[in-house]
Amino acid sequence: MNSKLPDVGTTIFTVMSALANECGALNLSQGFPDYDGPEALREALGRHAMAGHNQYAPMAGALPLREQIAAKLSRYYDVEACPESEITVVPGATEAIYCAITACIQPGDEAIVFDPAYDSYEPAISLSGGITRHIPLTPPGFGIDWDQVEDTINDRTRLIIINSPHNPSGAILRDADLKRLEALADTHDLLVVSDEVYEHLVFDGERHCSVLQYPGLRARSFAAFSFGKTFHITGWKTGYCVAPPALTAELRKVHQFVAFVAVTPVQLALADFMAQDADFAATLGAFYQAKRDRFCAAVADSRFSFTPSAGTYFQLLDYSAISREHDRDLAERLTREHGIASIPVSVFCEQPLDGHYLRFCFAKTDAVLEQAGEILSGI
Ligand code: PMP
Ligand code: GLN
Repeated sequence: MNSKLPDVGTTIFTVMSALANECGALNLSQGFPDYDGPEALREALGRHAMAGHNQYAPMAGALPLREQIAAKLSRYYDVEACPESEITVVPGATEAIYCAITACIQPGDEAIVFDPAYDSYEPAISLSGGITRHIPLTPPGFGIDWDQVEDTINDRTRLIIINSPHNPSGAILRDADLKRLEALADTHDLLVVSDEVYEHLVFDGERHCSVLQYPGLRARSFAAFSFGKTFHITGWKTGYCVAPPALTAELRKVHQFVAFVAVTPVQLALADFMAQDADFAATLGAFYQAKRDRFCAAVADSRFSFTPSAGTYFQLLDYSAISREHDRDLAERLTREHGIASIPVSVFCEQPLDGHYLRFCFAKTDAVLEQAGEILSGI
């Protein structure tokens, strides 16, 4: 059969996690915590499953959860969103991003992504017959060059995809970035997909800037969020998308034929937990900043160099003082020979990256972070 995605293989996350398991290596590659979400949340899931809440939820999501999401948006961002017409619960942010891109892109349309770009964006653009325009983020700050964005926009540009806090670099977009995007999107009548799954993982006293807080962006954006990151439950694969009513209607046209709904007892458990512990998300910044600091301290005397991440649960380490190997080769060798798995960053880039980086996930217990530090310090 003629492949519609001839250049796509198995995702690097799946490849590296499998290799880590095969080698019995510490797995700091694929992003997921090695600890559980809150007990009250897990108990609520069992309770709802046992109480018979096991059939389809409404297509847009269980209403109690959509109401809790609206309350959360108001509490954390001072943003109003209508649970009926603007909030859609999805089986993972990945599905929301796929549906939003599919809803936006017509054959021949161009979409701008920033490299290193999360791996799910381009395949969705390609499957809709769109063309992906890659703009590099420049190390070590991995900021966006908005003049280059302006130069890249043309008559066929339809969509810009942003991701802040940024996976894999750990960089964040700040107020000036969002204002510049707001002006550009308005001038060129662009749509925006904003991947904000790491919204609460922001450090050093900074705050997350959401597209939802900028009126010009609020009117033309799909903002995607994930409960997986916020409640340490990546395996529950549940998130939500916030967009104005006309965009939400288009998103749901696709969503109803991709997944149709998210899992019912999971949604009801999340609604219960959020009603009972609305402050949980506010604790995440300090929780993950301590993990970042522990990991960075543990590798401080190694031959790797780094700039501490501003957000996410990822830390890039620059290995130029250690090796000139391709990052994919090095990531594989470190897994096999040193027992530690990471993610090579070049797989997220169209053009070679200016630097030599591996990405390490620090959403791990302190003991694992210390052990990782010992291994990395011996390389
Ligand atoms: N976007 C980014 C940048 C991510 O890192 C992830 C995490 N896997 C996702 C989207 C997808 O989130 P989910 O697991 O909710 O689909
Ligand atoms: N987002 C996770 C990461 O960046 C991986 C999710 C996945 O495996 N698709 O590591």
